[in-house]
Amino acid sequence: MPTTGPKKDKTPPVKRRCNRCHGFGRAPCRICAGKGQVLMGTDVYGRAKFERCGGCFGTKTTRCATCGGDGFIT
Ligand SMILES: [Zn+2]
Ligand SMILES: [Zn+2]
Repeated sequence: MPTTGPKKDKTPPVKRRCNRCHGFGRAPCRICAGKGQVLMGTDVYGRAKFERCGGCFGTKTTRCATCGGDGFIT
């Protein structure tokens, strides 16, 4: 194997803080937009019907998809 070409700096894996959740590892639920419930239409009286969000189960946040819930990216 030829050893020509630019020498690569060997840097240890640095953990960077996730820029999406800022290190929290949780991000606002995208299904309910952080409300914890979703509009399921209206009932027979025309009133808005809300149901607990199935994406975050009412916790309003989900595991950050960018860092996998770590808060940091290696
Ligand atoms: Zn949700
Ligand atoms: Zn994240």
